[in-house]
Amino acid sequence: MRDTPKHQGLRNQLVQILISKGIKDQNILTAIAKIPRHLLLESAFEFHAYQDKAFPIAAGQTISQPYTVAFQTMLLQIQPGDKVLEIGTGSGYQAAVLHSLGANVYTIERIKELYLKAKQNLEKIGVRLKYAGYGDGYKGLPLYAPYDKIIVTAAAPYVPQALIEQLKPGGRIVIPVGDDMQEMKLIIKDNNGQITESSHGAFMFVPMLQNKE
Ligand code: SAH
Repeated sequence: MRDTPKHQGLRNQLVQILISKGIKDQNILTAIAKIPRHLLLESAFEFHAYQDKAFPIAAGQTISQPYTVAFQTMLLQIQPGDKVLEIGTGSGYQAAVLHSLGANVYTIERIKELYLKAKQNLEKIGVRLKYAGYGDGYKGLPLYAPYDKIIVTAAAPYVPQALIEQLKPGGRIVIPVGDDMQEMKLIIKDNNGQITESSHGAFMFVPMLQNKE
């Protein structure tokens, strides 16, 4: 598969849809206009790639809806050079968006097949992450901790303690918490290590599961 002017046109339309749904951050919109999302999906979904929808990838998982990717990214308030940990690499699309904003991205995925495929696809589209690995997000990624920002892209039953510990003072975690529906939580650690939590609406993710598969 290739990236063509037709795909670019569809991406521009997607950006207009996201603007109409309230996404205002120009850097995020520029990233979405640039990243060839269709090259991170199975080729059968090529022309679904630029609808504002979640889609199946391998192993019963999904690529997050573009609106959700934009919304979580907005809550993170990425600054160029931020060290960001992502839990749930999936297709690699969210990681590509963070990378495009100038973040140094570390991402982990608990399903081997997906981790391998995402690595390959990201390389194909020229996105070089700091680290893409096979691991269990409940443990975080202590090897490279602490992080400025942490994003979880699967539904967590609670906020894993390891993630709070691996966050820098002044840092942010964005994580959907809940069972059937999740509430988007923003957790901020202040410079004294105090934690505050706020809620940002209902979303639906695949579950965050324990251990590697
Ligand atoms: N960010 C992805 C979204 C993928 S869906 C994208 O942009 O495409 C969520 C992913 O989280 C799935 O691939 C799932 O396997 C993974 N996941 C679930 N629990 C996990 C855990 N404990 N550790 C790491 N990844 C996990």
